[in-house]
Amino acid sequence: MEVYDTFSFQQRLDGVLDRIAAAAARAGRDPADVRLVAVSKTFPPEAIDAALRAGVSILGENRVQEALAKAALCGSAEWHLVGRLQRNKVRHALSLFTTIHSVDTIPLLHDIARVQEETGCRPRLLLEVNVAGESSKIGFNPKTVRDAVREALALGGLDLVGLMTVPPWVPEPEMSRRHFRALRELRDALQDETGAALPELSMGMSGDFEVAVEEGATFVRIGTALFGKRASWKPQRSLDTDDFV
Ligand SMILES: *Cc1c(COP(=O)(O)O)cnc(C)c1O
Repeated sequence: MEVYDTFSFQQRLDGVLDRIAAAAARAGRDPADVRLVAVSKTFPPEAIDAALRAGVSILGENRVQEALAKAALCGSAEWHLVGRLQRNKVRHALSLFTTIHSVDTIPLLHDIARVQEETGCRPRLLLEVNVAGESSKIGFNPKTVRDAVREALALGGLDLVGLMTVPPWVPEPEMSRRHFRALRELRDALQDETGAALPELSMGMSGDFEVAVEEGATFVRIGTALFGKRASWKPQRSLDTDDFV
């Protein structure tokens, strides 16, 4: 079993932060404008506690149930959802996540608006865009995302802050650059067309975050470069799905 100690986590964290700072410097950006989301999916609460002791403040998870179970076991942190949100889990998601990076349909926007109205929980929202137009991928495409921004504005009250992307897998990080640039240019165009303020760009993972920072990322979502090879932690008892309605 892997041992998660603060010292080795700190070394990996410092390495990642140095690389973010260097990439920001190359692009003439302030490194403080790039926030690190430590993607702790599959890693156990001990790993998360090591991360929190090392100074991580934002944790990213891709499953609502797993995140709720961990949040109950770990020290205080800001939890971000980076994976797909099923419509029947919106209520639970809003009880924990301060930011949802992966809003991928218009009906989901409606559900979030409704639950937000009922509960007063108002997460920051990013729309996930499949910039390369891969048919197998979730997310809006560069055309449908326009309708989503307009819909979010029309619904009112939603805290829409930007766009997120997971580009296609490539062997070289440099090959992702055009996708990151495309997301930034799409954001610029959407702001001009709709008047929405979309300051946040969530892009870049362990393999390509430096290129993403050079292209304007404000959130990088990093898992394996911080925690190591993916683990397999699961909540002991899965919550009844009826609970999520
Ligand atoms: C798992 C995941 C990450 C982190 O990936 P790494 O390659 O481990 O850094 C980032 N974003 C999303 C949406 C993920 O699901």
